[in-house]
Amino acid sequence: TDIKELLLSRIRDVQDYPEPGVLFKDITPLLADPAAFTALTDTLAELCVRNGATKIVGLEARGFILGAPVAIRAGLGFIPVRKAGKLPGATLTQSYDLEYGSAEIEVHAEDLGADDRVMVIDDVLATGGTAEAAVHLIRRAGAEVAGCAVLMELGFLPGRGRLESALQGAPLDAL
Ligand code: 5GP
Repeated sequence: TDIKELLLSRIRDVQDYPEPGVLFKDITPLLADPAAFTALTDTLAELCVRNGATKIVGLEARGFILGAPVAIRAGLGFIPVRKAGKLPGATLTQSYDLEYGSAEIEVHAEDLGADDRVMVIDDVLATGGTAEAAVHLIRRAGAEVAGCAVLMELGFLPGRGRLESALQGAPLDAL
């Protein structure tokens, strides 16, 4: 479709970043283009409304850049899920495995509750580990997961299958 081509044309491939052998998908050209950024924001916001979301969770850091305008557009609150140690209030913490070692993400416990249906927003789905951990955090906070939406998924990695099992039937959309 037109929007898919527009978005794809604004993503830059960077070889060997952040380490040798990795092909990094850089979204900064998309963010710098107001037509593309607006089209992305509007499409994601529509998905969130269609899924009946009450709140948007954005994953640090690029999920903040995309999630905040989506939340405004959809008329919903924005909740940051951050790397461990960055949130000042009482948090829930979820750890997940990386290729080497592990990482932790956190959310303010009081930001989510039983009345919430939460959409998870991020830029790139790679192994699915980050989004899967966010899904667990949201459920541990007592809220329901409405779905997950990302700008792009890396189809050569098993991220979709892994995240879909965590989502338990909630939709996963990659534009
Ligand atoms: P995963 O947990 O799915 O392996 O990795 C996803 C997280 O890493 C996302 O928060 C995403 O922002 C970041 N990430 C991994 N690979 C890329 C990439 O090629 N480009 C961008 N922009 N982010 C990436």
